[in-house]
Amino acid sequence: MQVTNETVFDYVLVGGGLQAGLLVLSIKHEQPSAKILVIERGEQYGGNHTWSFHRSDIPGEAEGWLSSLPTVDWDSYQVCFPGFQSRVRLPYSSTTSEMLGRAVKNLLDEEGSRLLLNAEVVSAHFNEVKTADGRHFVARCVIDCRGQHATSNDKGPSSINCKLGYQKFYGAEIELEGDWPTSLPTLMDARVDQTDGFHFIYVLPFTRRRVLVEESFAGASRA
Ligand SMILES: Cc1cc2nc3c(=O)[nH]c(=O)nc-3n(C[C@H](O)[C@H](O)[C@H](O)COP(=O)(O)OP(=O)(O)OC[C@H]3O[C@@H](n4cnc5c(N)ncnc54)[C@H](O)[C@@H]3O)c2cc1C
Repeated sequence: MQVTNETVFDYVLVGGGLQAGLLVLSIKHEQPSAKILVIERGEQYGGNHTWSFHRSDIPGEAEGWLSSLPTVDWDSYQVCFPGFQSRVRLPYSSTTSEMLGRAVKNLLDEEGSRLLLNAEVVSAHFNEVKTADGRHFVARCVIDCRGQHATSNDKGPSSINCKLGYQKFYGAEIELEGDWPTSLPTLMDARVDQTDGFHFIYVLPFTRRRVLVEESFAGASRA
């Protein structure tokens, strides 16, 4: 193997998703000159996600580096049940794959760092990584960020002898011709038919005309 400046890094992050993105933000905050390589097999960064969180869940020590993540922010949200509706005064934020990808690209667009897309990693060890097209990279530290399914030995729910719950949901981001009635997110609107499990609607109005609507079902597994 030929070792060059283009193949040696401080950190190689395998898989370009949420975990790798947050690591890039935090490493670059603590060590601005760190040379980082992120290798993602997809053609764009992070897939197609919307990730949301309560600001109050963020520990104080993470606020500095997390500030470089672009987010859409609300100072409160609402929850609705039959005969009851409440505004919860807790800040809530969302980010998307596109927004995280933009922040990661900005930070890796520096001398010595790199984002490699369309590259499948076939082997990852503590300080070296190989891709399917024959490239070989070395680093002081390799972090496997390929997500739970790619790396876990867990055989899944059928191997666990306990009663599990589930949540399934379908979301769509829609452009409206008129204004959505409120600028507040709705984290749970359960004023819908409740046959066969707990059913609710989740709404994020990114603007009054661009809204993410998600329908969610939760229940206990019969297994
Ligand atoms: C409590 C909870 C709440 C959640 N809420 C949300 C939510 O609100 N919205 C939402 O979208 N999701 C939600 N999720 C699911 C969420 O998508 C995942 O938790 C999150 O995306 C995991 O990030 P990750 O970086 O670990 O993995 P991933 O996002 O799966 O990223 C892994 C990346 O590695 C890449 N990769 C895999 N194998 C290779 C390889 N061999 N070579 C190169 N690249 C490879 C993949 O292409 C992928 O881009 C939730 C999960 C939990 C547990």
